[in-house]
Amino acid sequence: MNESKNIHNALRQVHVNTPCSPISGFSISGLATYIQIPELDFCIDMGECPLTAIPLDHVFLTHAHGDHARCLMRHHSLRKMMGVERDSVYYIPECISENAKAWIKSEALFEGVAESKFRYPEIEPITAGKRQFLRYRKDIALEAFEVKHSIPTMGGTLYFYKKKLKDEFLGKNAAEIIELRKNGVEITREVYEPLISFMGDCLGESLLDNRQVFQSKVLITECTFLDDEDEAMSKKKGHSHLKDIVRALNEMDGDIKCEKIILSHFSMKYSDKHIRDALDKGIPEKFKDKIVAFI
Ligand SMILES: [Zn+2]
Ligand SMILES: [Zn+2]
Repeated sequence: MNESKNIHNALRQVHVNTPCSPISGFSISGLATYIQIPELDFCIDMGECPLTAIPLDHVFLTHAHGDHARCLMRHHSLRKMMGVERDSVYYIPECISENAKAWIKSEALFEGVAESKFRYPEIEPITAGKRQFLRYRKDIALEAFEVKHSIPTMGGTLYFYKKKLKDEFLGKNAAEIIELRKNGVEITREVYEPLISFMGDCLGESLLDNRQVFQSKVLITECTFLDDEDEAMSKKKGHSHLKDIVRALNEMDGDIKCEKIILSHFSMKYSDKHIRDALDKGIPEKFKDKIVAFI
């Protein structure tokens, strides 16, 4: 079937427009996941590495499963090969970062790099709950959180950072503001505006465990399983079922600030049509305009 072939081709990218950035990539469970957010100079996972990912300077690895991690070093080596001078930064959950380094080194040695010549790429171990600016974007901060999957996994939120005039100074004119500044008065406050949250692979309950993700303009969350008979399987494999997502939507309801909720990582056993039909049937009417299937 034509439609199935399309959604199973990891290099045929899906494009979604969002209020924060166009988002491009691919995500089918077991095949590959990579999600490029060019305006934030950020990529989530690197299950494949198409040339469009090469310019991105920040890559976040949610967990070690091959369909998410496989091409991490391909990204690094393609950049070197194409003469990109700046080192990209690989954000890796702290608990797997030593294993990742061992993997990266043995892959390089396997490829014939002399041990004396080997150099690690820029790896930044990530701990949950610590907000930090992206290496090359001082207007974008990243904060990761843990989610429940079959192995250690993290999601994260990207924030737009800005300084805003404090409310009490809003009515002042330019001269007054300059005067206040001269006198050393702190007239601004820091604002972190949540732009995009992404969940990584996870059980559906991780959405409510990390309910702040519903404050972001865009939420990217996995929805591996759709059919009633797959509910037990979703728990067993540590993945979300459509019913878990609907449960979370209903519970958050009026508190959902997301303009778009992108569902990704569908099981490869479903066709394009099956996915669209299941979402049409399963998502309550009032949330439908927010939901986008990443296929
Ligand atoms: Zn996966
Ligand atoms: Zn996984």
